[in-house]
Order: sequence, then C-alpha cells, then structure tokens
Amino acid sequence: MTRLLHDPREAATLLRAGELVAFATETVYGLGGDARNDRAVAAIFEAKGRPHFNPLICHFPDADAAFSEVRRDERARALAEAFWPGPLTLVLPRRTDSRVALLAGAGLDTLAVRVPAHSIALDLLKAVGTPVAAPSANRSGRVSPTTSAHVLEELGGRIAAVLEGGKCAVGLESTVLDLSGGGAVLLRPGGVPTEAIEAVIGPVGRPLKLDAGPSPTLRSPGLLLSHYAPGLPVRLDASEAGPDEALLAFGPAPSGAGLSFQLSEAGDLREAAARLFAGLRFLDAEGSRRGLARIAVMPVPGEGLAEAIRDRLARAAAPR
Ligand code: AMP
Ligand code: MG
Repeated sequence: MTRLLHDPREAATLLRAGELVAFATETVYGLGGDARNDRAVAAIFEAKGRPHFNPLICHFPDADAAFSEVRRDERARALAEAFWPGPLTLVLPRRTDSRVALLAGAGLDTLAVRVPAHSIALDLLKAVGTPVAAPSANRSGRVSPTTSAHVLEELGGRIAAVLEGGKCAVGLESTVLDLSGGGAVLLRPGGVPTEAIEAVIGPVGRPLKLDAGPSPTLRSPGLLLSHYAPGLPVRLDASEAGPDEALLAFGPAPSGAGLSFQLSEAGDLREAAARLFAGLRFLDAEGSRRGLARIAVMPVPGEGLAEAIRDRLARAAAPR
C-alpha cells in the first residue's frame, strides 16, 4: 500500500530509512530516494520500470547544500542566485568527496543539482538532510504527473508514500544546463527560458537536434551509445574469464577467476544495479594496473532492472 502523507517530517523519516517517497515540486511530482543510498537509487529505477540508467537530478533545500556535492564556478553561482529556488538544473563536476551513489549519476563524473521552488518540498529536503534523487514520478515512457492522484495511478503499490503537495504550478520539467565543460550547453529546455539564462551568463549552446545521433556537443548521456565506457574493452555474455580477463560476475561464478567483482551472488537485481558502476570502475582500474586485456561480463538475465543493467553493459561494450 502506498500512503498519502501530509507531514514532510513523516516523509523525511521514510526517505532516511531508504524508502521511496514521491513529492511535489513546482515542475512535476518527483519520485524521491536518498541519493546516498545506492539500494534506494536502484529502487527508483525499478519502480519506474526504466529500461536504462539515466542520471537523476539531486534535489537540495538551498544552494549551499547543492554546492557541497558539486564544484561550482562563477556562472553557476550567478545562475543559482538568479533562478534558485526554481526550475533550473545545473550539471556540474562532482566533488571527489561527494557521497552521492554512483548509480544516481549513472557512473558519470558530473551531477545534476537543483533547488525546487515549492515550500513543502523545501521542508521535506531540509528535514531529510541528505540529497534526494528524484526523476519524474511516472512509469517510464509515460507522462509526468502533476497531482498526487496521478502519482498514485502511476506508482500506487510500488512506492512507500506520496507527500501531498497540491497541483504543480509549472507543470513542465526543469531546464537542464550543462556547465561541466568549458561552455554552457542546454541539455533540455524547460521551466526557465534559455533567453533568461543567457541574460545572466551570455550565450548558451543548443545541441544539434536530439534525434540527430551522437555528437561531441551533446553530452546528455542516455543519448550516447558509448558514454564513459571503461578504459578496458568489455566482453559480454561470458561464462568464464580467460587468464587475461577480469570477471564481472552475477550469480554463482566459475571457480578459478583471478580478478573478479560480484554484482550479486544471490542474483538480486537491486543489489546488482546498486553495485554496477562501482564494479566496472574497480575492475577497470585494478585490471589495468595488473595489465589485463579486458573485462568479461557474465549474463544478467531477466526483466525490469536487468534490462537497464544490460543496456548499460551494452554501452560499455560498444566499439569506440
Ligand atoms: P528526469 O529524471 O526525467 O527529471 O530527467 C533528468 C534529465 O537530466 C535527463 O534529461 C538527464 O539526461 C539529465 N541529466 C541528469 N544528470 C545529468 C548529468 N550528470 N549529465 C547530463 N545530463 C544529466
Ligand atoms: Mg521524466
């Protein structure tokens, strides 16, 4: 049963316990989970039925909290000053000491951060005291919800609670702006018009058409076939690892593998999703150090999160 809550403190208690709680922002209802809890983040993808791991936006009660997870520059400071709280998401380099789960950022070195303009959401975020990762609170491929009733239709029975926050005022997702490179690149148009951003920081690059395929300026990761792939080549559907291979295991692993990382001995998909990016990073670094030739990956069968895991592994294995 999904509960309908009216007290942000009750919602905060659930989030701190690793449960999922949907909450209203001025844009749309978000499906929130503790961004530092990798099981909770995996559960977000599972509840949405997302076929791949898009990086999630982390929500904060104020700019100081947001900038404690990412490195800000003068442009980010000026934009935060002008538009936060509000429907602008900034993609910035992740701080090396950030404790946000790798899965929340889809394994990237950047994080998307935002301070929403909704008093109940801000009360919730203050009470939680950790970053809250939240994509829109709908099933994958469906329309974003702007009332608690929509959320219950979409996710009732799949999440712990919805915090009532009325009807969303903007009803349109946040503008996503990438400041992690030299320039400023619009990744998604949204609640803050691009012209308003340009009035603060000057020209903003618009990527090529979203359906035009991979382009060097288009950094929204879900759209790139191979993004942040490990340095070592990846071999999929391996039943065992050769002497020059590191093994990414799922379920009972063949004996005798040298370097290996177990995603989930029991074959638990949520555990595997939570450990995926850490596993790839570990095998890549340690395998390279030992002079191994590639990473062999055991099959991850099944639906739901398994599909998202296979999607990410296929990207990691895609030719570069
Ligand atoms: P949603 O989860 O539906 O609110 O969508 C979040 C949007 O932000 C997606 O378009 C993501 O690709 C984008 N996004 C989130 N984090 C990053 C990041 N680190 N780099 C680039 N784009 C991001
Ligand atoms: Mg969405």
